[in-house]
Amino acid sequence: MKAKKSLGQNFLIDTAVVDKIIEAGEIYSDDNVLEIGPGRGFLTKALVRRSKKVLAIEKDEELARFCRNSLRADNLEILTGDVLDTNWKEVLNQRDFLAFKVIANIPYYITGKILRLFLENSFQPQILVLMVQKEVAERICAKPGKLGILSLSVQYFGEPEIVTIVPREKFEPAPDVDSAVIKIVIKKEGRLELEAEKKFFRLIKVGFSSPRKTLVNNLSVGLDLKKKVVEKILIKIGFKGTTRAQELGVEDWIKMIEYF
Ligand code: SAM
Repeated sequence: MKAKKSLGQNFLIDTAVVDKIIEAGEIYSDDNVLEIGPGRGFLTKALVRRSKKVLAIEKDEELARFCRNSLRADNLEILTGDVLDTNWKEVLNQRDFLAFKVIANIPYYITGKILRLFLENSFQPQILVLMVQKEVAERICAKPGKLGILSLSVQYFGEPEIVTIVPREKFEPAPDVDSAVIKIVIKKEGRLELEAEKKFFRLIKVGFSSPRKTLVNNLSVGLDLKKKVVEKILIKIGFKGTTRAQELGVEDWIKMIEYF
């Protein structure tokens, strides 16, 4: 079977990386796992051995058929379809996946959409373990000073960490970039009410509208407030007039939504 570039098919060929993914997912015999893009089943095989049930979704019909025929396990179900077009609330409910973990070595061009799909919803997994482009992993896991909209959005819902860097030679065919496995443990508490959550994301967007400018500048332009007023509020909350958006963590932005 020839790898299809259009579906981001770069297959893992290193068992040590598989072991690290399983360990990061904290996969045990009572766990339900949702695997996105099983491909030729290299990772799926290990997941099936370790977990209670694996539900996998593969867009490529030929590969889905191949996996069904070659893996044949009672605790494996492979759906043919696009992860982004699936009604997950319904699919997960039908299978009693009340708690589940997402494991995915996905095409890089859908990383953002997968994150939104499984973070910004009521059917959040307990843990997500994703293979992503190395630079994207670093952006997601960034610390204050280097934070951005992507890192804050993920860090609001969960605690991300880089598990391991995966050089391009660990795939067949080798992609043009290096990768990293990231683990995101979903926070059980701390999610805001719907309106406050919307405000949180709106404020972040405004705060980062011109990344080179100060927060005072961005907020005063974006919220149509006088600079002096914005500065006064920032100082009141404990920041400086020169503070930049990338220096503030999730808790800082939550503090700010009370005032803006
Ligand atoms: N998990 C396998 C591995 O580790 O070797 C394959 C990884 S490969 C990078 C990504 C897989 O996701 C491919 O099998 C591809 O066909 C599948 N895929 C691509 N887009 C998809 C989508 N929107 N929904 C479901 N599967 C998709």
